[in-house]
Amino acid sequence: MTTPQHIAIVGAGMAGIACARTLVQAGHQVTLFERSASVGGRMATRSTPFGDFDYGAQYFTARDARFIRALQTAPSVCKPWSANTVRVLDAQGRVTESALPAQEAHWVPAPAMDALPRHWAAPLIERACVEFQTQVTRIERDAVQPKKWQLRSSGEQDAQHVFSGFDAVLLAIPSGPCLRLLSASDLAPALKKAVEKAEVSPCWTLMLAFPQAAQANLSSLGPQWNAARSTHHRIAWLARESSKPQRLSVERWTVQASVAWSHEHLEDDAPRVQAKLLKAFTEVTGIRAEPSHVEVKLWPFAQTIKAVGKTHLWDAKARLGVCGDYLLGCRVEDAFVSGLELALAVA
Ligand SMILES: Cc1cc2nc3c(=O)[nH]c(=O)nc-3n(C[C@H](O)[C@H](O)[C@H](O)COP(=O)(O)OP(=O)(O)OC[C@H]3O[C@@H](n4cnc5c(N)ncnc54)[C@H](O)[C@@H]3O)c2cc1C
Repeated sequence: MTTPQHIAIVGAGMAGIACARTLVQAGHQVTLFERSASVGGRMATRSTPFGDFDYGAQYFTARDARFIRALQTAPSVCKPWSANTVRVLDAQGRVTESALPAQEAHWVPAPAMDALPRHWAAPLIERACVEFQTQVTRIERDAVQPKKWQLRSSGEQDAQHVFSGFDAVLLAIPSGPCLRLLSASDLAPALKKAVEKAEVSPCWTLMLAFPQAAQANLSSLGPQWNAARSTHHRIAWLARESSKPQRLSVERWTVQASVAWSHEHLEDDAPRVQAKLLKAFTEVTGIRAEPSHVEVKLWPFAQTIKAVGKTHLWDAKARLGVCGDYLLGCRVEDAFVSGLELALAVA
């Protein structure tokens, strides 16, 4: 093994967690900086009185042997979901001929999407390796040891902190925030140029709960299917959260707006987006009941349209690196592989 190093990783989504775990296993000291209060990033769970919503990633597939092996270490966390009978709908919500055949397992963590990143991050949290609610705002040369790096951050109530003494800094954050951080730090033009190649789309996401179904002794409201891709101009994807394994049975739907519509309505306010998506949901599903819970969330950097085309970026001289789903694709597994490959390059 090489000499143990102290490595800063910015972002505790799947890429950052995979990277951190691998570096710790290789004997390095890792500090993971996360701007929010929990791990998982876009593998996100929203808790409500009516049950949880997976309001980012809906499920994931596993093709890379290393990801499959890693998932085998958490057999009680990930369950297959019958969404591999995903339907394709026309704009009026009719199921078309082209219902997708079951090709590969669709996995969901239980009891909710964030269970897997939480499970894998638990040993890091136990070792106090994660700095939560710490948004890294600048990377600069260490004031005391100029060969090393220091990070500036803003935290709760805008408290400013400096964390110093890092041998390497790895950015496991979406492409937009990555470019902002590199620009603010006036660093690594070659890494910046590579990250600029990625195209990433926003996604407005609607969450709806209908406890009426159980009250009326119905197993569910509306359609017979549980998950569908839609060609409605406003909606690309719908899933019945309550159909996922080990979830509360209260009928809940997560609805993702299409890429084009999310782009067009990027600047809209949430109530306006909510009303429009709710109307489209009724058109597609035929569900006219008043939801007891309705909420929208905008993901500004949701899904990769064009990937960078490399597993990771690593400037061995400066000891700065970049990983994340958008380097390879748009999936949870891409984030895992990217984080892992960067860690292997650094270790
Ligand atoms: C609506 C939606 C639906 C999706 N559906 C699917 C799906 O069905 N299947 C699938 O496989 N994938 C899906 N994805 C994609 C999947 O969620 C991502 O590929 C994966 O979670 C990305 O992981 P990541 O670690 O690269 O980035 P992220 O999960 O975005 O993690 C980055 C982390 O960095 C933190 N951060 C950002 N900036 C800073 C900063 N300056 N300082 C500190 N922390 C910072 C963020 O808070 C976040 O926790 C979906 C994504 C969205 C949004």
